[in-house]
Amino acid sequence: MHFLRKKEIKILVAIIFLTVFLGFNVYSANKDSDKLRVSFFDVGQGDGIFIQTPDGIDILIDGGPDKTILEKLSSVMPFYDKHIDYLIITHEHEDHLRGAIEVMDRYQIDKIYYNESSDGSGPYSIIFKDIIQERATLIEVNDLEIIDLGEDKELKIYSFAQSLAGRSNINNTSLMTKLSFEGSSFLFMADIESDLEKHILEQDLELKTDIIKISHHGSNNSNSSDFLAEVNPEIAVILVGLDNDFGHPSRRVIKRLEREDVEIYRTDLDGDIKIVLDSKDYLVKTTKNH
Ligand SMILES: [Zn+2]
Repeated sequence: MHFLRKKEIKILVAIIFLTVFLGFNVYSANKDSDKLRVSFFDVGQGDGIFIQTPDGIDILIDGGPDKTILEKLSSVMPFYDKHIDYLIITHEHEDHLRGAIEVMDRYQIDKIYYNESSDGSGPYSIIFKDIIQERATLIEVNDLEIIDLGEDKELKIYSFAQSLAGRSNINNTSLMTKLSFEGSSFLFMADIESDLEKHILEQDLELKTDIIKISHHGSNNSNSSDFLAEVNPEIAVILVGLDNDFGHPSRRVIKRLEREDVEIYRTDLDGDIKIVLDSKDYLVKTTKNH
């Protein structure tokens, strides 16, 4: 009887081992882990964007308005992986910052890039700094920070808060991020408004980009025709909550993109939007169809 029990335990252990092992392999195969993956999560009204490079570097841009980001991260990361290399907090509005604080509580993060609001009196600035000072290296972006991701791959984080346009409006303290990856590019606009877009156009920056994360949830105070013309994207992604109180995205912004034949994806209708870069081709996967 005793012997049988031992044998049963051995079989059980073998079954568990095989299940976990096979499960893990299926998981890896499904996750395109040898490619660049950019996930635009449906976190309601807010931004939460996760970049995973083939070399295993994880970058989170904003965390959305609440804990939703945690289940979203679990859906694209192995269960044992609680490490994120870089967190970029574009600005201190709740729909970008609150979820990021939840992430800081549960994940080990190496470096956090942020930009203080123009006068430093924003509602979360003090809590935010207290939390992160203990847990990660804090990097305040004053002009430009570059994260080297290997040969022909980099992430540029721009701050324009020192410019005239950035002084009176927290949206305009937003960090703009550009990911260049082996000839392909993504531009993440956070909530930058059109007066700052105008200022950005006056700088000598390479703005042409394949995929743009449309600014400020598709607001008409952002995403000017001039700016979009300069970026000249193939794909536009709008992170926006279904039936939100702000009327985002603006019909005019959608029309502007349609006129230029830009392919549009939006989290309120498409759910999570995952773009996988496969030798210069983009594979777009969504969790809802519309
Ligand atoms: Zn926002």
